[in-house]
Amino acid sequence: MDSETRLQQTIHAWLKQKLGTGYDFAWIHQAAPVGPHERPALYWTAFPSAQRSLPSSALVKLIQGVFDRHKDHSFFLLRQRIWTTAALSEMDRGMVKLTAKRARQIQEETGLFKGIEEIEEHVVAEPEALFFESSLLQPAPPLPEALFKDEREIKAYLENLQAQVPRGDVLHDYNRPIAAMLVGPDRRALALSLHQGSINKTLHAEVCLCQDWARAGRDALIPEGSRLFIGLKPCQMCAAMISHLSRDVLDFRVIYLQDDPGPLAQGTTLQRDGRQISWSELEPELS
Ligand SMILES: [Zn+2]
Repeated sequence: MDSETRLQQTIHAWLKQKLGTGYDFAWIHQAAPVGPHERPALYWTAFPSAQRSLPSSALVKLIQGVFDRHKDHSFFLLRQRIWTTAALSEMDRGMVKLTAKRARQIQEETGLFKGIEEIEEHVVAEPEALFFESSLLQPAPPLPEALFKDEREIKAYLENLQAQVPRGDVLHDYNRPIAAMLVGPDRRALALSLHQGSINKTLHAEVCLCQDWARAGRDALIPEGSRLFIGLKPCQMCAAMISHLSRDVLDFRVIYLQDDPGPLAQGTTLQRDGRQISWSELEPELS
């Protein structure tokens, strides 16, 4: 075993000693000084292992928390390897791909814990929390009350909402005009969200929607026959989270209004499973 792996196993043992069993852990060990830190630092969080069906995880909380609470050096931190004790799900891999660099699952430690010295500890998100709770998150727009009469009306509603997103001067420093809306089988709006990536790179409209939905205690179950309308073709991170949340819903489809030809929107879980369709493919099907 190399010394790097041994160090990470020691960290795992240390975290387990703090919280006991029943948790997945995720952390970044920052060996070289970053920002104001002169000592090696550990950024960590945990996640209750029994809740793995939710659109969250130790790794998701860690990345979301680093962007939120350690924004100034998030770029440096997320270039380090992320260690986690749970098997990496597609959702985890999607978020790493979009916002970080690399992640690895650590195997169960076997050695005795001998203590860690000289480490600066940062709890990035509360271990018991199911989701990272951002203080910067804007509330979702209010849900339209009336039922939509058809898909074209849903599209127009989404486009109108997107057109109202103010555009800033600096690239990457404003929220992109992208909305996502979950519509039930009777064409009632069930959930609605806007892109909030300017404050936290993980907060694409779809991530906000999935997490809000699960956060609101709806048992994370999306009704059969629901459709998720999105302004732009979902990226790998969002597709994997949508798939994670909707995996047991047989009749569920994602409809996106604009294509995204970029590499991060190709080969996604939704594409692979045939669960998404573009507006231009859908339109001929409409009466
Ligand atoms: Zn996305």
